[in-house]
Amino acid sequence: MDSRVVELIEDLKSYLEYLKGMGIESLPTATGPVTQTPSSSSESFVSSSTLKEIREELGDCKRCKLHRTRKTLVFGEGNERAILMFIGEGPGYDEDIQGRPFVGKAGQLLTKIIQSINLQREEVYIANIVKCRPPQNRNPEPDEITACRPFLQRQIRAIQPRIICALGAFAAQSLLQTGEKISVLRGRCFDLNGIRLIPTYHPAFLLRNPERKREVWEDMKKIAEWLKELGASV
Ligand code: URA
Repeated sequence: MDSRVVELIEDLKSYLEYLKGMGIESLPTATGPVTQTPSSSSESFVSSSTLKEIREELGDCKRCKLHRTRKTLVFGEGNERAILMFIGEGPGYDEDIQGRPFVGKAGQLLTKIIQSINLQREEVYIANIVKCRPPQNRNPEPDEITACRPFLQRQIRAIQPRIICALGAFAAQSLLQTGEKISVLRGRCFDLNGIRLIPTYHPAFLLRNPERKREVWEDMKKIAEWLKELGASV
């Protein structure tokens, strides 16, 4: 068979697998370790405190005005030694009630995206730029981001992920300190203090624009390749 046809079939096969991963069928469970030993971690982030200590220090945080309207502070959750970390914008309605990141409709889609590269949610770490829900889900404001940033940075230092996937324009722009559009940032590999950072579309955007899932799949394939390179089988 012509090699281009073989390539096309392979591509189609992987895309169909992705569709499966987006909820059409159930998926296989993860097989390999996507956790790391301290020695394999990035050297650039020297761990100072544990996640538990950071959470304790946050306490009943009132460092910005979001505390007045939030129900629950959403710290983040997942594997403390995850190689892969996802960072979104901020809690929405469901997250604010449950105190967990990405548990609403967009969160369910994120879970499927994670499963599409053969990982389970519990194997990665999920956090947000801000830990409290902005009223009416408006974008977080600069003073809110500034108040929250040191805690996210410390979480990153504690986890020492090798890869960060920024979900959506807001997360990508604030992590990379840029005003560049998500359509320009998406799918590119950036260096965030020695950590590979790849921006992709936010799952909430995908719910409104399902035809853009194809691009997210491309980004997930890149992440899966990097995980393999790092010795984490997916
Ligand atoms: N959207 C986000 O950016 N984060 C969440 O935790 C939920 C929805």
